Amino acid sequence: MSHSPNQAILLTSSLHVDDARKAIAALVEDLIEESKTINDPADVETAALDQAINRILAADLLSPIDVPAADNSAMDGFAFDGKCLDTNSTAITLRVVGTALAGKPFEGSIGPGECLKIMTGAVMPAGCDTVIPQEFTSAKDENVIEFKQDQLRPGENRRLRGEDLKKGKPAIAAGRLLRPSDLGLAASLGIASLPVKRKLKVAILSSGDELCAPGQALDAGSIYDSNRYSLTGLLNRLNLEIIDCGIVHDDPVSLKQAFIEAASKADVLISSGGVSVGEADFTKQIMQELGDVGFWKIAMRPGRPMAFGVLKPVSGKFPARKTLFFGLPGNPVAVMVTFYQFVRAALLQLNGANQTEPPLTQAIAEAPIRKKPGRTEFQRAILGRGADGKPTVLLTGSQGAGILRSMSEANCFVILAHEQGNVAAGDWVDIALFDGLL
Ligand code: AMP
Ligand code: MG
Repeated sequence: MSHSPNQAILLTSSLHVDDARKAIAALVEDLIEESKTINDPADVETAALDQAINRILAADLLSPIDVPAADNSAMDGFAFDGKCLDTNSTAITLRVVGTALAGKPFEGSIGPGECLKIMTGAVMPAGCDTVIPQEFTSAKDENVIEFKQDQLRPGENRRLRGEDLKKGKPAIAAGRLLRPSDLGLAASLGIASLPVKRKLKVAILSSGDELCAPGQALDAGSIYDSNRYSLTGLLNRLNLEIIDCGIVHDDPVSLKQAFIEAASKADVLISSGGVSVGEADFTKQIMQELGDVGFWKIAMRPGRPMAFGVLKPVSGKFPARKTLFFGLPGNPVAVMVTFYQFVRAALLQLNGANQTEPPLTQAIAEAPIRKKPGRTEFQRAILGRGADGKPTVLLTGSQGAGILRSMSEANCFVILAHEQGNVAAGDWVDIALFDGLL
């Protein structure tokens, strides 16, 4: 089924955030289906591990080896055959016949009444299945140890070959947004490079006559263009290719030219500004010629106006794919909120990620928060910890949609659901951290 971005807007004049998300996901799914009919051999590429962070794994990674590759010791201690153990508390005495170090296995074999001094990670010698930790033993004589035998059972303190991962089993599933631990895991299997989805090409532009690039003198009535830089930072977290189309003035010719150029190069275009009432008419007209784009009023704060849809393939573009288009609001905080709420998941979905939603958690509001039912709000806040150890959250000052400092000082959003009213101090609220820990 083909989804037009305009369908959703016909249903309601103020779109619920969840409905907007669903409409976006449905359209991205259509684009993915369409792409399957386009022969693009370059869709998957190989990335060296040190370049693979935040790329999307293109195929299940099957382990080429057992992990660990051999039975080994989980402790520093003495390895022996556990068959000799009794369940009573009498002491047992064993003669130490050698040492096994990590990376230096013991070549001989261990007989009855004998043991081997062994370090954590060292391969278990033939004939041994149990390790008594060093601290449970005492020296009876030179090269003779003694310990109470009811302190452990046969097989203890030994890691089995293939215990973490069996050869041929999936270590990482296709679609994973690769994190540091995934790169370490791949390396631990001896794999030096990974098949990853090609980097999405994402064009960004800022629209507005008042915009001036940082580093230049500010004309009267102008403001600096901050959106392209916060967007660049947000996109860089996804390790994709950014095409910076700069600042575009509020005239139909420049705007149309910029959209055509972006559509000829990029998989996705993200613009900011020019979609609010009064300005949108002009953008709408261009969009009717260049693609199928809905102009949404979303029941959210900040970030009410947003355009979303596709630009038609420009002639000569190879592969002849449509370009996904997000026309974000101009306000700097609204740009970041709408990116977080809609764009990030769409980019991940388009690039084949199997998980697109960032995790939510909860904290206790330290102070009351005013909230009108009927819209989803994204307030900027600092997550901390109360005297009782519970997570607490406090808004960062003025919450105006243009006040970037509220974002910069915050470490999380407080997300207040559509139906929710005022929040009292002490209420639990949903929060989304800006940075994951791993
Ligand atoms: P607009 O949606 O174009 O009406 O913009 C809404 C508000 O955001 C206006 O105050 C703009 O000046 C401001 N704005 C738009 N684009 C940017 C930008 N790239 N950087 C900073 N502020 C912007
Ligand atoms: Mg504008």
